[in-house]
Amino acid sequence: MSPTAASIHAAWRRAEVGAPLPQTGQRRVCAVYPGRYNVAMANLGYQWLFYALAESGLAVGRLVQPEPEVEAEVARHGLTDIDADHPARATDAWFVSISFENDLATLAGLLRLAGLAPRAADRRAGDPLVIAGGVVPTLNPEPVSDLADVCLLGEGAAALAPFLARFLTVESANREDFLRGLADLPGAYVGRFYVSHFDDEGKLIAVEPRDGFPERIVAPKEKTVDPSQTRLHLRAPGAAFGDALLVETARGCIGRCRFCAAGHLFLPYRPADAPASLPDLGQTALGLVGSNVSGHPDLDAWIELAGTNRVTLSSIRRGSLRPAQWQRLVDGGLASAALAPEAGSERLRAVCNKPATDDEILAEVRLAADAHLRNFKLYFLVGLPTETSEDLQGIVALVGRCREIAMIGWKAKGRAGKIVVSLNPFVPKPQTPFQWLAFGDPRELERKLKFIKNELRGVANIEVQSESLRSATFQALLSTGDRRAGELARLVDQADGVRPALREWTVDWRTLLAQPRAIADALPWDRVDVGVKRSYLEREFEAALAGRVSPPCDFRRPCRLCGVC
Ligand code: SF4
Repeated sequence: MSPTAASIHAAWRRAEVGAPLPQTGQRRVCAVYPGRYNVAMANLGYQWLFYALAESGLAVGRLVQPEPEVEAEVARHGLTDIDADHPARATDAWFVSISFENDLATLAGLLRLAGLAPRAADRRAGDPLVIAGGVVPTLNPEPVSDLADVCLLGEGAAALAPFLARFLTVESANREDFLRGLADLPGAYVGRFYVSHFDDEGKLIAVEPRDGFPERIVAPKEKTVDPSQTRLHLRAPGAAFGDALLVETARGCIGRCRFCAAGHLFLPYRPADAPASLPDLGQTALGLVGSNVSGHPDLDAWIELAGTNRVTLSSIRRGSLRPAQWQRLVDGGLASAALAPEAGSERLRAVCNKPATDDEILAEVRLAADAHLRNFKLYFLVGLPTETSEDLQGIVALVGRCREIAMIGWKAKGRAGKIVVSLNPFVPKPQTPFQWLAFGDPRELERKLKFIKNELRGVANIEVQSESLRSATFQALLSTGDRRAGELARLVDQADGVRPALREWTVDWRTLLAQPRAIADALPWDRVDVGVKRSYLEREFEAALAGRVSPPCDFRRPCRLCGVC
């Protein structure tokens, strides 16, 4: 018998380990993840969201992208949630967690499948309110505001709690009145009260608030990180990253890499103390999550929590793991680790503010190889500012030297492993020193990617992976786009692909991709204050172009450098 949406939901619920979401609240809402179930259930922010909504007394149904085999059925009968098979349309609100720009097209699709208008301005009085939170709306709420009624800027409970306090006391307010009443709510960006103005050439000249909405919206942050909150509470056997118990160990990063949105958005660096204990791991691994996991000041205490079980680290910063720590990780079953040199030369790494010589990177590979780590993943960005053909050749040469070192470990163990080279087109991100840069010409990027792939083709034990250029182009248009980019997300859903959507989109997207912005230009995210001063970003941008390195953030001695502390 072919599966139905209800039978898939039932199978998921049966297989999950953890407390089911209570369905007894007076008001019903959806916790939405615009992606597949297995990715949703590995997302700590999403897991935190649906339990936080349930704890506030709401009846919460999880809503994810339907599996491909039931999409036709869902299109005919409407989208339902996982927990009660309740129609997603017949709810008071959708709380949407958005981690990746491309998820906006999926969100448009979910709204369509639920029988709702994807465009916020087209929805009617009785439709659920759509409230978006997470990294993407906080960085740049303008494209999101095409689809969502409200963007809640900021982190976790600091962003959600003030909104819920308001939402829970207003039983059946008129939608317009409710939204208008959010003008004084910390962190709330209500898109319909921010109007974009363009010049005759279609260039943004200002985003103006109206009807008493604030000029500047401060994104609230949490003071500390509580790993008892941000960990996997509901464990799904098929989740991405396997069945590891994922726990947030810290927020933010000390590195201040100039391309990195998370590195700036989540400043200051806030390491969490390792808890006294964790739920019984059984046979499963402990997954330590954060932007700078290997640099945690008390990493050993976190690793000890796993006993003899496997420990995975979501990020490894060069120079932060001692040989004994590498050995513990590999002896405990770690089969693969990711390092991110980012660029092929010391010069370009300085531009990015991720300084490292080739020898320093190779020394880290050697530490891992000496501990007999089998597989490596090396991340590189292609299309970085000031990049030359020598930088691309540098990537090829560095990968070759890493392979030579890895082979020492493979030979000692008598079995070969693999080096996965992950190539990702550089996408400028808001709230970073690189926010003024252009994405560039996709054909030029393609040529660069092809060069590296050709050079590494056929080299034993090397596998090259690269993000699709079409997906990166879409991501770039949404990342630093204005309100009009939300229309593109809807078109991608309607036209079922980026290429046909770009053909239909009336905006001159080639110019948007190709032209860097001037420092004085209006930016779509100008109204958002994430704590990092614009003057700091400008100085860092200048330093990047001059190839100057800035020191890491010393979180133990708060300063005034970037404006966050
Ligand atoms: S103000 Fe100083 S200590 Fe605080 S986040 Fe910025 S660089 Fe780090």
